[in-house]
Amino acid sequence: MNALKSTLLKLDGASYKAYKDIKGKYNFSDFTLIIDRVQGDPFAAPSKLRVKVPQSIAGFPPKLYNSPSRKVALEDYLIRQFDRAAKDLSSHRGTGKSGLIGVTSLGQEVLERTAAFVSKNEIEVRFVVGLPARGRRILGRQAAELLCEDIPELVDRALIYDALNPKEIFPWVETVEDADALRSQLSENNLVAFVANGAILPRRSGADEGPLLKNAIAFQSPSSLEVELNAPNLGKIKGMGIPQGITLIVGGGYHGKSTLLKAIALGVYNRIMGDGREFVVSDPTSVKIRAEDGRSVAGVDISPFINRLPQGRSTGNFSTSNASGSTSQAANIIEALEAGANVLLVDEDTAATNFMIRDRRMQQLISKEKEPITPFIDKIRQLYEDYGVSTILVMGGSGDYFDVADTVIAMENYQPFNVTKKAKEIARECATERQKEGGDSFGRITPRIPLGSSIDPSRGDRAVKVKVRDVDEVAFGSEDIDLSAVEQIVNPGQLRAIAEALIVAKEKYVDDKRSLSQILDKIVRDIDSKGLDILIAYPQGDLAKFRRFELAAALNRLRSLSVKSDRALSVE
Ligand code: ADP
Ligand code: MG
Repeated sequence: MNALKSTLLKLDGASYKAYKDIKGKYNFSDFTLIIDRVQGDPFAAPSKLRVKVPQSIAGFPPKLYNSPSRKVALEDYLIRQFDRAAKDLSSHRGTGKSGLIGVTSLGQEVLERTAAFVSKNEIEVRFVVGLPARGRRILGRQAAELLCEDIPELVDRALIYDALNPKEIFPWVETVEDADALRSQLSENNLVAFVANGAILPRRSGADEGPLLKNAIAFQSPSSLEVELNAPNLGKIKGMGIPQGITLIVGGGYHGKSTLLKAIALGVYNRIMGDGREFVVSDPTSVKIRAEDGRSVAGVDISPFINRLPQGRSTGNFSTSNASGSTSQAANIIEALEAGANVLLVDEDTAATNFMIRDRRMQQLISKEKEPITPFIDKIRQLYEDYGVSTILVMGGSGDYFDVADTVIAMENYQPFNVTKKAKEIARECATERQKEGGDSFGRITPRIPLGSSIDPSRGDRAVKVKVRDVDEVAFGSEDIDLSAVEQIVNPGQLRAIAEALIVAKEKYVDDKRSLSQILDKIVRDIDSKGLDILIAYPQGDLAKFRRFELAAALNRLRSLSVKSDRALSVE
């Protein structure tokens, strides 16, 4: 530490580039500081650092990290402690990012990340620092304060067990372990989702994902849908079980339908203690589906839904650079199935009407031969019967779906009621008299083989140039991939990891022979067995775990993507 301090003091007044000399490893009394990457100027991306604290000093009891769920939860907790202390201590110390101390961006989800690692030997935390300067001159004294006083203070406050509150930290990791246990009990109970009694689903605002505190109505399951699951720490937890099959969520406008569906869509992730949705869990292969006009589509077999397009365009191998609402929704469904989704989540708010319904009157006016779209209502049961894929559908605007539903839940004043019987009675009494247009079976799902030459992360003379903007966009080579409609990407770190995974997938696994789903299998297996660090060349703290569906979503939205379809492999 003394060596670092005296180097920094000596650098005072030197040109910013001289900071490069401090790259390296320094022993402090309680930890090691590693400077992996030094920024080139005060406005550039901040420098990348790590601390490693031995367990002999950090002192975390193994009970806090001795299962995979607990380990991820403890790591997440420590990042948040570090983040809070860093916000306290960060101060503006000169030009640009001078003085900043930051960790990865955090939200309501508990995700596996590269910002912290806990093992029986040590705690490692990765963060960034804006090395202080005035203009382009090094501020050596401020740098010494930051690295040699503030960082040790941060370690003392955030990474030493005795400095933390055991009354908070134990429930924190237990909550995550319980949520994982509930999720793992869904399929054996023939459920696709579970919403615990007492859950607070609404959020504070469109800009604040924290729980609504004032006037929030807690969730209470209707007794006929109530199930009890086992949480290892909290014991038995009761709540509403959504069975496999087709579930409609109906109810008047503004009565909480979309809020419920959104909580379920994000129930593929664990939430932090205090979120209100800690015990809202869904099948990990649930994919939120929506219309997304304007997206590109590469060689997707959308023939189960769309046929006989004008000008004889093929839909068995459909490509476009500008999909319509209905074709984009069809492509989103087929791509989710291709990637292995067992549950689809659809909200009328973000669906294409002509994809969802086609009533009797319209069937009479526009004959089936003149309508390329087979509406979802005529495919939703086949999807379940042929492929075992369940759907949860928010549909307040059309009762035509009563015929095909297994379960109908009505939201009224933010409370769920089981109205299945009533809906079925109504379906019998007022028949829709629609013609069924879905044929005998759902149809084939044709695997696609992505072509390596169409995936190019290079730009100008740089072999790899990728950059992530929040959760919505990746600049990949010379293209921008728009992911703003992919609602289950919740953290910029996921997008950062997805961008890196595309590059690794292209290098290692895209060989013009493997199908997209085989490529997903490979890369997901690598990450599961060796960790997210396999995606990056040197230690960085801003990656977070993503699902195969969101990696596929990014590749599928790459406008240059081209594929061969593999009819030989197609599932009928
Ligand atoms: P719908 O989809 O039925 O039209 P939304 O789910 O969009 O309704 O909810 C409408 C409003 O009610 C939103 O502002 C939402 O935050 C709020 N809300 C939803 N659920 C609850 C609840 N349990 N308690 C209080 N407010 C809620
Ligand atoms: Mg809604």
